[in-house]
Amino acid sequence: KKKLVQVKNLTKTFEVGKGASLKAADGVSFDIYEGETFGLVGESGCGKSTTGRTIIGLYNPTSGEVIFDGQNVHKASSSARSKLTRDMQMIFQDPYASLNPRMNISEIIGEGLQLNGLYKGKERAKRVIELLEMVGLQKEHANRFPHEFSGGQRQRIGIARALAVNPRFVIADEPISALDVSVQAQVVNLMKNLQREQNLTYLFIAHDLAMVKHISDRIGVMYLGNLVEMTESEKLYESPKHPYTQALLSAIPVPDPDLEKSRERTIIEGDVPSPINPPSGCVFRTRCPVAKEVCAQHKPTWQEVDHGHYVACHLYQ
Ligand code: SF4
Ligand code: MG
Repeated sequence: KKKLVQVKNLTKTFEVGKGASLKAADGVSFDIYEGETFGLVGESGCGKSTTGRTIIGLYNPTSGEVIFDGQNVHKASSSARSKLTRDMQMIFQDPYASLNPRMNISEIIGEGLQLNGLYKGKERAKRVIELLEMVGLQKEHANRFPHEFSGGQRQRIGIARALAVNPRFVIADEPISALDVSVQAQVVNLMKNLQREQNLTYLFIAHDLAMVKHISDRIGVMYLGNLVEMTESEKLYESPKHPYTQALLSAIPVPDPDLEKSRERTIIEGDVPSPINPPSGCVFRTRCPVAKEVCAQHKPTWQEVDHGHYVACHLYQ
């Protein structure tokens, strides 16, 4: 399989005043294969959005690099850059905040076409209607404004806007977190169908493992700026290795009440430490139920524990 996106040792540090800095992403590495969905999961503040925004070129990395289809995203020439901005699109968490309330749907969806000089006049209007229908809306919706739509419909508009320029890779940053549970599955199914029809590759960002389960081929788990585990979706749910992943999984309710009663739950104690002053050694050690002495002294390295299954934890070294 072809690697469409390669994230190599990506570090992103923000200056936060008084000489302090915040390492939002700390040496993150993973690849995304063409046509797959890579789920990136972790609590808020773990660096998953920063990683996504750096991949797409909204931020420059502090160190490390991102390669898209053989091209370094942050060192691209201006002509290569304009192709990259078409090839890589983003869907945002909050469909309310990400749509301009003063623009109608036709203008919102058509904006990217206009900026990229794609389709003119009547052709553009036709393309907008095609996109609306593609996401399950109707042509009558083109002249309406964002406030006239439900949360789920607004996210469909956000998806249509992202797909307008025929991207190859889409980063969806918590696209269903703000939606009612009843609508979440519909949006995930729509994204899956569009992926098949348009041959899209996704980076799907979420704060819990339940949300990425039905869409991801592979999953990476982040904690405090670090990728701590990565493997195929089924493997992660069946045999999670990292104590943090195990805790995240045990927090997902199971539908069978008998099974639910017999299940052990790991409650993660305490809060996520400040990324300005992260713990020494393993970043998870202050909340890890099985931390050992070595965990405070040395940062665990990234190990392949099974074919394609990687984990950073001293239990496996
Ligand atoms: Fe827990 Fe140590 Fe593994 Fe970190 S390295 S997750 S503290 S056992
Ligand atoms: Mg975020």
